[in-house]
Amino acid sequence: MRKRRLVILSNRLPFTVRERAGDLRFTASVGGLATGLSAFLRSLETADSMVSDYLWVGWPGSTVSDGMKARVRREAAERFKSSPIFLSSEEMDLFYHGFCNETLWPLFHYFPSITTYRESHWKQYQEVNKVFAERVAEILKPDDIVWVHDYQLMLVPRLLRHYAPQNPIGFFLHIPFPSFEIFRLIPQEWRREILTGLMGADLVGFHTYEYTQNFLRCVLRILGTGHTMGSIILHDRLVKAETFPMGIDVAHFSEAAKSPEVQREREAIRKSLKADKVILSVDRLDYTKGILNRLEAYEFLLENFKELRRKVVLVMIVVPSRVAVKQYERMKKQIEETVGRINGKFGSVRWTPIIYQYKALPFHPLVAFYTVSDVALVTPLRDGMNLVAKEYIASRNDETGVLILSEMAGAAKELGEAVIINPNYREEVAGAMRTALEMPPEEQKRRNRIMRDRIRRYDVVRWAQDFVSQVLSVRDVQKSFYSKLLTEQMKEEMAERYRRSRSRGIYLDYDGTLSPFTLHPEDAAPSENVLGVLKNLAKDPKNNVTIISGRKREVLGQWFRSMPIRLVAEHGVWVREPQDDWKMTKPINNSWKGAIMPIFELYADRLPGSFVEEKEFSVVWHYRAADPEHSESLAAELMDTLMGFTANIDAQVMRGNKIIEVRPLGITKGTIGEELIQRANDEFVLFIGDDWTDEDLFKVLPSTAYSVKVGMARTHARYMVQGVQDVLALLAFLSTERGGKNARRVRAGRLPGKGSVMRKKME
Ligand code: UDP
Repeated sequence: MRKRRLVILSNRLPFTVRERAGDLRFTASVGGLATGLSAFLRSLETADSMVSDYLWVGWPGSTVSDGMKARVRREAAERFKSSPIFLSSEEMDLFYHGFCNETLWPLFHYFPSITTYRESHWKQYQEVNKVFAERVAEILKPDDIVWVHDYQLMLVPRLLRHYAPQNPIGFFLHIPFPSFEIFRLIPQEWRREILTGLMGADLVGFHTYEYTQNFLRCVLRILGTGHTMGSIILHDRLVKAETFPMGIDVAHFSEAAKSPEVQREREAIRKSLKADKVILSVDRLDYTKGILNRLEAYEFLLENFKELRRKVVLVMIVVPSRVAVKQYERMKKQIEETVGRINGKFGSVRWTPIIYQYKALPFHPLVAFYTVSDVALVTPLRDGMNLVAKEYIASRNDETGVLILSEMAGAAKELGEAVIINPNYREEVAGAMRTALEMPPEEQKRRNRIMRDRIRRYDVVRWAQDFVSQVLSVRDVQKSFYSKLLTEQMKEEMAERYRRSRSRGIYLDYDGTLSPFTLHPEDAAPSENVLGVLKNLAKDPKNNVTIISGRKREVLGQWFRSMPIRLVAEHGVWVREPQDDWKMTKPINNSWKGAIMPIFELYADRLPGSFVEEKEFSVVWHYRAADPEHSESLAAELMDTLMGFTANIDAQVMRGNKIIEVRPLGITKGTIGEELIQRANDEFVLFIGDDWTDEDLFKVLPSTAYSVKVGMARTHARYMVQGVQDVLALLAFLSTERGGKNARRVRAGRLPGKGSVMRKKME
């Protein structure tokens, strides 16, 4: 197995550096991504991992003075396998506190009312993302796999792709990806850039299926690009969106729970709490966590179920977070006032209903709290995943304990055996607490056993391995595309063969091949450039150029009026030889059109932006300019209707690129193309097309012919190019002196390159 290095990019490095009195202090980060990934990074030492080493790139947690940067760089590399990115406090302010925490964080957690949209924040976000991408580009080796983490760096994949087109790049979002209705609140230009930024990756990962679907829907609605089973095919690449629910290091929590350290801590906690039942709540101070709602629900419980007073205690651990932000300070005050009020209202000298701590807990005391608590109350209003829920379950070795979990947390998708609640409704949360406090141990164990099994199977090591291996497998699929990509060398060899041939048949599709698709088909008239390229080809007496299209003969006739080329219209119904009139290739019945038209018109009426095009022998429904989602569902419906309708008539239904067409049975580009090619018997045959109607001809071409598909997709063609510009460049290359000259050099063996792929294929 080939070993690779993993380059991890995240806003924060796995340590924090502080400058104090001319010295530096490094502390390893606790919690967050660093802890999450540490088990995976340790596992890399085992022999069968596809990744052998790693490098972490990110911000070191504080502004470092110029004089200290070299030392931080050195220690970061030696002690933490890290490469720091230094940012000034102004940059961090606009980028992190600004765009990340005032725009993306609230909006992606469904708090549009507190979301701000500031140009200066966005500009800095773009800038910092650029700094990250450029930094990584400098240190990247050809075999490195890049894994970009989270919402702070959503523009990095595309920026980095520019510098490192060949490196596998994965992106994982640790927060929810919101629904289209929320995401569209971001200004148009920004939201497009965010989506295209993410799509620079080969693989974009999310915690839940729902977030993945939200992302795919935004890509469809905002960029107009659809997908098949999560695979988005761009003109030059494939991007996969996939679900990977992040796990935890289950063994680490389970082992710790058995340790003497935790046992001791646990006894001490038990003694000090003096209550029959303990409910635990642990979160960072954040409005997404629903801490106030939780307190209100607890108050409601004590109010309405008096028998629980003095028997139950709520341990509320709030971890300081984003301390400088006013909103968080205000919330802290509100939480503390509410805790004080509830304790004052129900408490006594012998019983405090809420034990409140505003401080992070070290690992062992945290696990001790997990093991000592009868109930874990995890009720965020919105949470990408929520690891506390999983950690609680992992720490309960005796399988007792009840997890109350908000349905708004990503973790709820995996932990369905928890008591699932809606955190907005205090009656429901209070009811769940009561259920939890009364749940028989057998029932607790039944539920926890299932959840423990699940989180053990898909732990953090599996999660990371799965993600990395999928990045590589997307690359493999890409490679199967790339293997057909027309290289310069292949072009040179094609030119050589072209030059040597005494007669050449050049067959070209029109839309999507010679001209890009436009919202309205009449806007796709050939440019000066296209006409020039065709004229150049056609003036060589050895060349027979044919445009083979599904278009109407009037349109083709008008566009290429004076051009000495052959035209094939309506997929082969009509042929016009140079300087001749249009002729039908065979007698065709179109009496079915009258019955089909009203069906098409009904769908055009139902879908604004779509329209019907009537040709002599076919009818087409175009929906490129219509709502992308609505059109997909109506197109499926129309296909279904037409399939039934055409079963007994001489017509067939075809779904093309944003069109549905009904046309005569037995008329395809394959039939007409094959006939023309056989008749001409040219020494050199080339066919270029982009749509699946062109596949009919790719399939039947003689083995010596050159076939080129425009766009990345599965194809019967032997070669691929990425877009219309490449087609025009290829044709220009063949028909100009340059093609001939280069071709001669190839023949003389003066161009570099191993054995010719093209020649091998042809032999
Ligand atoms: N955590 C911690 N010390 C504490 C409280 C929490 O280290 O005092 C850790 C906890 O173990 C968990 C993480 O912080 O791994 C919180 O992750 P979660 O996904 O629940 O929420 P986030 O803070 O990422 O939104």
